[in-house]
Amino acid sequence: MTLDAAWRLACQRIARLDARLLLEHVTACTHADLIAHPRRMLSAEQLARLDALLSRRAEGEPLAYLLGSAGFYGLEFVVTPAVLIPRPETELLIDVAIESLQSWPRAQILDLGTGSGVLAVTLARLCRGASVTAVDFSSAALAVARGNAARHAVEVSFLLGDWYAPLGESRFDLIVANPPYVAYADPHLQHSGLPFEPRMALTDGVVGGDGLACLRAIIGGAAAHLRPGGCVLVEHGYDQAAAVRQLLAEQRLVKLDSWRDLAGIERVSGGQLD
Ligand code: GLN
Repeated sequence: MTLDAAWRLACQRIARLDARLLLEHVTACTHADLIAHPRRMLSAEQLARLDALLSRRAEGEPLAYLLGSAGFYGLEFVVTPAVLIPRPETELLIDVAIESLQSWPRAQILDLGTGSGVLAVTLARLCRGASVTAVDFSSAALAVARGNAARHAVEVSFLLGDWYAPLGESRFDLIVANPPYVAYADPHLQHSGLPFEPRMALTDGVVGGDGLACLRAIIGGAAAHLRPGGCVLVEHGYDQAAAVRQLLAEQRLVKLDSWRDLAGIERVSGGQLD
């Protein structure tokens, strides 16, 4: 079958852009190749792989898992079903972090629940003088994150464990986290590809809970792991900003603030140790 025919057939099964990206992935062609060489033939093996990927996409599996990668802050990251797929709104956390790091060229940065490592690796890339530590409870996620750090040629110290547990008494200038915050009963967990993502990256699993258990643990331990003047910045759900600011206030953190994502939703909140 020709590229052109395969592309047309693929578009009948899934959305046009996804069809093109999967076809390019299987054939190692660029978009320009598809247009310039429509009569190039797919091998039987390529056709079989494309067919399998189209079926999985039609079943709702996220494109990033099928391609094995996703973009974040202009960088390409390997993703597997062991990690959450990076979301564009998480880029806001990088913007706010970079702003707060301006006075600390040699900052010690901690990323809790690093997953694919997008926050840790992007911050290490952008703040060359900083030293970055990243923690995750999943060794499979850490393997992905380590691969991403190597891919982007940055040094990150990866630790396996439960939030602050593997860190001892260490203190940091900046703590960032995009933890699981979707409430266990939230119907979104059943839609838009979320059933394919690791449940432990999306929700705290507390039946009848508000989704804030991980944010409570992270904010609750922040004061003991920040240097004076250090900041904690967390991503949270669309309706959690006020509750998160309250958690920050309970820990006597100061200069509390929330920042809006491109959809105008308060998505990141933070505070500073006096
Ligand atoms: N923002 C993600 C979503 O709603 C959830 C990410 C998270 O729990 N950290 O799909």
